[in-house]
Amino acid sequence: MKNKVKLIYIVGIEHSGSTLLDLIIGSAPEVFSVGELYFYSVYRNKEQIDEVERSFICTCKRPFEECSFWKEINQKDDFKIRLRFPKREVIKIILYAIMPFLVPKKTGNVDDTQGLLKEIYQKARQVKPELVYILDSSKSFLRLFYLLKSSDIEVYPILLVRDGRGVINSRLRMGQKVGFFTAMLQWVLTCFVSKRLIKGNPRAIHISYNLFCQEPKRYIKFLNERLGIHISEERFLDKMAESEYHNIDGNIIKFKRITEIRCDERWKKELSPFKRIVSTVLLYPFNRMWVKRDSLHQVNT
Ligand SMILES: [Zn+2]
Repeated sequence: MKNKVKLIYIVGIEHSGSTLLDLIIGSAPEVFSVGELYFYSVYRNKEQIDEVERSFICTCKRPFEECSFWKEINQKDDFKIRLRFPKREVIKIILYAIMPFLVPKKTGNVDDTQGLLKEIYQKARQVKPELVYILDSSKSFLRLFYLLKSSDIEVYPILLVRDGRGVINSRLRMGQKVGFFTAMLQWVLTCFVSKRLIKGNPRAIHISYNLFCQEPKRYIKFLNERLGIHISEERFLDKMAESEYHNIDGNIIKFKRITEIRCDERWKKELSPFKRIVSTVLLYPFNRMWVKRDSLHQVNT
């Protein structure tokens, strides 16, 4: 294939609603969602890598190696996709985000994503004849950094930001081994670096999860216009139930029938008064910058 693969990439921190957004955008006839593609090698090798016990089941409810979509792609080549990066590289990319002039602009492939995407594209066209985009909701800004440098991929980044208090509460509730202050710092840092990486990028879109949940139809209309796709504005929930998905990893809501879009605000009840007050005060300027504003509510890049 001569043309570049067009890739919609959702960037941000975990527990920001990316699986939901992935499923909604993936219901468009022009988009094929693969979920969190940076888990590809983990799924292929059935590696248990952290405290989350994975069953390696595709959204089609078949085991990954038996899924009609992935089975054929897995036979093509032994694609290696990087999930984690050494600390040294993480620091380098954060520094680049702060001071872009410091790091030389090299291009090159960090893993086999380019080759894998080409195979996915060929296969996905059989499922969706009107296919234009592949959608990857890996979220990692490290992965985005390299994707943006890749010569054969045209990236359409979507930065998804959810109120930091909600993200922190979800992470603590899931029993993640992360402290309250570390979780706040990670949220700020991830949003900051992601925002810097897409700064000035005409293809980039910034979406506030909280504002999205208030008026999903308006956001769908906006995404349709910006990306030239056709998510059903009136029937997107039905379309999601009807669509064929083969996402890797992501939230378990992908197995359920979603009947309404509701903002998860459990943090208001679940965070202790101390944590609620501290996070409200410390995160206030950041929530104002990244959650109260987005591409639809005045551009602030
Ligand atoms: Zn499948």
